[in-house]
Amino acid sequence: MNLSEQDRHIITSAIRDVPDFPKPGIIFKDITTLLGDKVAFATLMDHLAHRYGGYGLDYVAGIDARGFIFGAALAQMLGVGFVPVRKKGKLPYTTVSEKYSLEYGFDEVEIHIDAFDGTPNARVLLVDDLIATGGTAYAAANLIQKSGGLCVEACFVLGLDFLDGQRKLAELTSVYRVIGVE
Ligand code: AMP
Repeated sequence: MNLSEQDRHIITSAIRDVPDFPKPGIIFKDITTLLGDKVAFATLMDHLAHRYGGYGLDYVAGIDARGFIFGAALAQMLGVGFVPVRKKGKLPYTTVSEKYSLEYGFDEVEIHIDAFDGTPNARVLLVDDLIATGGTAYAAANLIQKSGGLCVEACFVLGLDFLDGQRKLAELTSVYRVIGVE
């Protein structure tokens, strides 16, 4: 399902660039302005619901924290379950976890061990707001497989196309970003 130029413009112009956040040299893509714009938010979610309506999904998994917003809204529109992929230490029950490297040091994401137990070979769509280096999404896609799901695609509102993240993630799953940032 292609995005019309008009819809692409509606979505792109609702996202705010914040220079030098959280540190000098980073242009932070602020999606709170998109969420607050009912037309832009609906345009995005309608596009995603059309795209994924025919995928035969069982779950949408969203990455902590902005992936929860888009992921949960999409799951509800598609009539499937939502599964949170959380930063370490937040989930109350038994978890499966995956470490990944950051610029300096490591981070870790977790998923409940029984997240997909209701559906053998569950077809799962992974969702986050943005893919940069791809480290977070790569770890999350691995977690989905480890806990018995099949990650059929990873979907992002924005992709920083000048970084290598999408190519790396494509080793694990299909990748789709709505808007590419050059
Ligand atoms: P990465 O693991 O490098 O792909 O980083 C992706 C995660 O960091 C996502 O959850 C994004 O929300 C966040 N992120 C990284 N870079 C940016 C940016 N320039 N603007 C907004 N969020 C970002």
